[in-house]
Amino acid sequence: MAEAKIPKATAKRLPIYYRYLNILFNAGKQRVSSTELSEAVQVDSATIRRDFSYFGALGKRGYGYDVENLLNFFKKTLNQDRLTNVALIGVGNLGHALLNYNFRQTNSVRISAAFDINEAIANTIQSGVPVYPMAEMKEQLQIQQVDVAILTVPIEDAQIVADELVDAGVKGIMNFTPIRVSVPATVRVQNVDLANELQTLIYFLDHYGSETTNNSATE
Ligand code: ATP
Repeated sequence: MAEAKIPKATAKRLPIYYRYLNILFNAGKQRVSSTELSEAVQVDSATIRRDFSYFGALGKRGYGYDVENLLNFFKKTLNQDRLTNVALIGVGNLGHALLNYNFRQTNSVRISAAFDINEAIANTIQSGVPVYPMAEMKEQLQIQQVDVAILTVPIEDAQIVADELVDAGVKGIMNFTPIRVSVPATVRVQNVDLANELQTLIYFLDHYGSETTNNSATE
């Protein structure tokens, strides 16, 4: 199957489809129509068909989609059949919460190492994850072959730590700080500004009430 470059919005929906297909598969369902899928994941069926079309013709007219085929396909696309180790930098309040959460509902990603500048927390284990001092970050990331890092340091340290991550060879940064860090074009940054998300929600509620539809999966 061709490795077509898919739109970001489509890529964001893939885990949603994947999660639902898993539920269907575990319930013993063999096929699913795009209408059924649409109701379950709250994405309109035209969008689903367009999303799937980026990967070639996966469905059959009048039959729908074969659940197992689709699931295996998404598993490969999302790399769900291999475990990705992720690092977390900055074990403060948010860092602790993420370590504790540790993406348990997926079995394909987990935070395997954390780093902090604070000597009181370095060389301890937090929520089952070892915390290393910053001086060991580059070496550990390379030994553990970690390509993805979660950034939960204070704003004023975000750029310095991002530079250190780039230097250590990290390819993706999930940035929980409110600033936009600069990185080379070879590194991808996903920004998660929780305060901004909450303010956006409140803004929409204040201006449009609850009549707007949930667009988190369709934006
Ligand atoms: P938050 O609620 O934002 O997670 P907090 O208020 O608990 O944070 P912050 O001051 O934001 O604490 O720091 C978050 C964590 O980042 C702390 O554990 C701190 O020791 C660590 N930290 C600060 N600077 C650096 C740095 N340059 N490199 C690595 N870790 C750092």
